[in-house]
Parts: sequence; structure tokens; C-alpha cells
Amino acid sequence: MTSDLPKSDLDPENWDAFRSAAHALLDDCLDRQQNARDLPWQPVPQDVRDSYALPDAGVGMDATSLTKVLRDTILPYATGNTHPRFFGWVHGTGMAEGLLSEMVAAAMNSNCGGRDHGMVYVERAVIDWTRRQMGFPNTASGVMVTGTSQATVIALSAARLRALGPDVRKDGQGNDRLTAYAGAGLHNSARKALELMGIGGANLRLFPETGAGLDTDALQAQLARDRADGAIPFALLGTAGSVDFGKFDDLHELADLAAEEGLWFHVDGAFGAWTRLADAPWRALSDGIERADSMACDFHKWMYVPYDCGLVLIRDEAEHHAAFAERPSYLAPMEAGLAGGDPWFCDYGIDLSRGNRALKVWTAIQAHGTKKLGAAITANCQAATQMGQLIEGTQGMALAAPVVSNIVVFTADDGLDGGGQSALNTRIAQDLQIAGEVVFSTTRANLPCGKDITCLRAAITNHRTTSDDIIRAVTAVVRYRS
Ligand SMILES: *Cc1c(COP(=O)(O)O)cnc(C)c1O
Repeated sequence: MTSDLPKSDLDPENWDAFRSAAHALLDDCLDRQQNARDLPWQPVPQDVRDSYALPDAGVGMDATSLTKVLRDTILPYATGNTHPRFFGWVHGTGMAEGLLSEMVAAAMNSNCGGRDHGMVYVERAVIDWTRRQMGFPNTASGVMVTGTSQATVIALSAARLRALGPDVRKDGQGNDRLTAYAGAGLHNSARKALELMGIGGANLRLFPETGAGLDTDALQAQLARDRADGAIPFALLGTAGSVDFGKFDDLHELADLAAEEGLWFHVDGAFGAWTRLADAPWRALSDGIERADSMACDFHKWMYVPYDCGLVLIRDEAEHHAAFAERPSYLAPMEAGLAGGDPWFCDYGIDLSRGNRALKVWTAIQAHGTKKLGAAITANCQAATQMGQLIEGTQGMALAAPVVSNIVVFTADDGLDGGGQSALNTRIAQDLQIAGEVVFSTTRANLPCGKDITCLRAAITNHRTTSDDIIRAVTAVVRYRS
């Protein structure tokens, strides 16, 4: 007996109506991009927040009502990082081409875990382009991930496999105690990776970084102590662009040290790796990154592509593959057809089902070329230099540290005591955000005078920022401090 299945009504019933509503929404999205300068962060009004609640039964709307909701209650309440005076944390801006690539990606809805289809080849092309920019050998492999946090887990998993052998996948770490080493400016995501992997955050050893760089004598003394205690030192973590001050470790020095001590050398280049595309003197900051065993970087920060989008590169494809490859029978490869096309990205990372992250990068590089992207990165470093000079030239303001790349950390009035400065800087950050004038974030820093205070912080990974925006930002701080 056969009976007809009920027809799904999850596809539009009226494609003409859907098409015209979608075209109108595309125009709204384009307006939003084109008018980014007029659209700073704004708090979400309570009634709008309330409207986000989903009733048990959902709603059920036609395309016209749905696109109206998206336009009126969703589109205006973004993080604000599309605005030219958004300098908080390390947030990328996204470029107009992102709209095109995300639209095509959604239409294709590819699963990039593996198999043989176009987006797998596009992802390989993006990885290969990045590999060349970073100076990694063509024996390297990579996989696109949510961001540097996930990339670090993948890199350190390969590092652990080298230290403990392939049985660690089957047996776990047992009583082996692994230890990792880094400068004090290391991003918190590395500690999280070690926690998640069961290595434990306490087995991460951080060493002070003075003007002369990382204290390698202290590091080597600790290594010797750890070995004597029966620990297994397995990784040295370098930073190309620290999240606090935008500082760079001497990567050649760390590569030498890792080689001497038999450690896996990983570099967190979340944003700073992209100084590879910048002009002198900034390019030289990341010299030596090509010697790493692995590195992590984000496209969603300093490559201006939409969230989320990061990459891990691993020098030796075999070590990368050994840490993650697994093909149960339902994923068996075939000689030809859709299940062909080795390698599959699911053998190089955590995710099996994977969205299309590569197309937005590929589209950005196709649209602008490496040189123009590099010029934007150079311009951001120049903007940070300009901001630093304005701050130094303004009565009462002081830098917490010299500007080395794209990050500026400063206090609005160094005439106050420590508590007074912290309170003032926090208030200014908040007031300027609410006013929609400038977004600074804050961070704790030790001023040259010895005071440990909450400072204002600008990280410039914003291709829309002009000199005038920098002047307006500093002027706004002066205006708001009284
Ligand atoms: C942002 C950042 C991270 C974390 O990267 P996500 O993409 O947010 O996961 C790690 N290290 C540095 C230096 C960062 O700036």
C-alpha cells in the first residue's frame, strides 16, 4: 500500500513574494553597510529585547512580515564593530563583499567536513594562500575553525601527540603531566585549551616580559625543575600580537629555544600574524613565524571578513592528521563520486559537520588582492601611531606602554591617584560607548610610574578608520574627562 507523503511547506509557498521581500532586505543590508559611519553601537531597548522571546508554538510569518522584523528589530542592534570609531577588544569590521559570500554560502549550504565538492577546494585554496603568506612549507596542513581559541586546541592536540605518542588518543594522558611555557602576555584562550584538554591550567608556566623580551633564563630554569619533577614539557607558546599591548615575542629566539629544548613551538597570531602583509617596520614584528610547528590566526579580526573565521596551520601534515583522523564505516572514503576527494577536513579537527568559512576569505582576497589588504593593515598601524602621538601631546594623558603595532593603551589623566584614574577611564569608556561616539575597551596596566590602573584601550583592526576618526576619538576623551 502506498500513500503520498504530505507536502512540506517549509519552502516558500509564493516564491515571487519571497523574492521581492528578499530583494528589499538585501537593500536594507546594503544600506547598513554603506552607512556604517552613521550606525554606532546602541543599547537594545527593553521592548525590542522582549520581542525576541519565542513563544512555545513559534510564530509563523510570511516573508514580508519576517523581513520587516529582521530589518526593524534585528539589524539595528549590532555590536557596533562596523563603525569607524569602534576600537574595543579586537573586533574586525567585515567588508561589503561579506554580504555576497555569505549569501552564496547560505544558498549552497555545503557541509565542509569532507567529500568531493567545490567548497572543499575553495577551503584548500584559502589555506594554501595563507600558508604561503606565513612562510610555512608546502608539507603543512590546515583547517578553518571558529577562531584562534579552537585553533589552539587543535594545535596543542597535535603537540601532545608528538610528546606522548599516538596511544594518547586511546589511553588518555594517564599520569603523565604535561607542561607548557609562554610569556606573560599570552592570551587566556591558551589556558582554556589546556584546561579543556585535561592538561590543566596550572601546568602553563608564564614568564615576565621586560624591555629585553621574555626571560628565557627563568624559563629554562623552570624547564629543568619540571623535568626533574617528572613532568613532560611539551610546548612553547609564542605570541605574535598580544591582546593587551599588541606586543610581539622574538619568534626567532623562541624557535631556537624550542629546538634546543625539544618543545613544540606554537604561535598565537590571532591578529598579529597579519603583519606579514604590512609594510616596514610592522612586517618585521612577525619575522620567525615561519619556523613554528603550528600557528593560529583569525580572518575575522585583522582580515576584515565576517565572523566567525579562524585557521590553524600545522607544519607537518602527518602530525596534524595523526591527532584527528578517524573514519568509521559510515564515513568510509570512496575512489570516486561525492565520497571521494581525500583529504577530508573532518580528519584535521574537531568538527564533522562544518559550515562554509572559506568562501568569505576567498571572496575578500579575490575582490581586493593581497596588496590592498596589506595596505589596510599598515594604515591601522599608522592610525595607532597617530593616536599614540596625540595622546602623548595632550596635557595629562599618558600611554601605558609604547605603541608597537595597532594597540594603544592609555590613561586620560595621569594627575589623579591610581583609583581616581581607574574610575575616570572606566567612566569615559562607558560614556563614549553610550553616546555612540567612540568604543574603547579597558584593561589593567602597570603605568611607567608604577601605578597599576584600569586604562583605556584601542585595538585598531578597522579598515574604515580615518585620521579624522583618530583625532575625534582623542578629542572626545578630552571632552568627556571633565
Ligand atoms: C582574539 C584572540 C584570541 C582568541 O581568538 P578567538 O578568535 O576569539 O577565538 C587569541 N589570542 C589573541 C592574541 C587574540 O587577540
